[in-house]
Amino acid sequence: MEAPILRMGESQGNDEAFLPGPVLLLGAPGVGKGTQAKRLMDEFMIPQISTGDLLREHRRNQTPLGMMADGLMSKGLLVPDDLVNQMVAARLTEPDTQRGYILDGFPRTLNQAEWLDAQLASSRLPVVAISIVVPERVLLERITGRLTCPVCGTIYNIYSEPPKQQGICDREGATLVHRADDMEPVFYERMKAFEAKTAAVIEYYRAHGSRFAEVDGNLPVDEVTHSIRATLFRLRHSEES
Ligand code: AMP
Repeated sequence: MEAPILRMGESQGNDEAFLPGPVLLLGAPGVGKGTQAKRLMDEFMIPQISTGDLLREHRRNQTPLGMMADGLMSKGLLVPDDLVNQMVAARLTEPDTQRGYILDGFPRTLNQAEWLDAQLASSRLPVVAISIVVPERVLLERITGRLTCPVCGTIYNIYSEPPKQQGICDREGATLVHRADDMEPVFYERMKAFEAKTAAVIEYYRAHGSRFAEVDGNLPVDEVTHSIRATLFRLRHSEES
């Protein structure tokens, strides 16, 4: 049975009756899409679908897609649209996406955005796009200081969100890893890909008006989460009124 769409004022936010639907987190590398997606996932009990994570999993499993993507990813270049779109299409058929999901790192090109629109044309709720904005000078420090737990995916930052014990995940006790493509030269390539391709995707969603919003990502993590959460409620409620 489908969950009812909630009316304005009916929820404090963390109850199952609220239907988040498809949520896009947009922004440059390092704005905090992954960190925020994980927090929303826990709160709304919907999956985070990170195309970067899915591609890294393919790479680890040495699938044909993973082997093809490997060279592009390590140079900070984008993987071809058709391959990424197919991968997302497969993920969206899984039952855990029924109440909604958070797409993190997708769409990254206009072609992917148009493909997603076509794919979701008959979906119950339209996409809501939230762009996280952080000044470019802050991004380099965030990216080069980023460490990830290979077991649970928790993201730390040696400058701003360090683990309790250096290099060790607070939750899992696993040794944290620094992504090879978070090194400074690759970061600049990823920023170039963002400016050349993904900035236009943000403009594409901005043109949709009421289903788009920007949030300030240069604030403490909890405040950014609060602001994304409030924005999601506002955008969904404005659809209903
Ligand atoms: P991320 O973890 O989102 O920073 O992605 C890591 C890398 O995976 C990117 O630098 C790209 O090489 C590749 N990638 C992730 N998502 C996409 C996408 N939507 N389109 C093309 N390439 C992608």
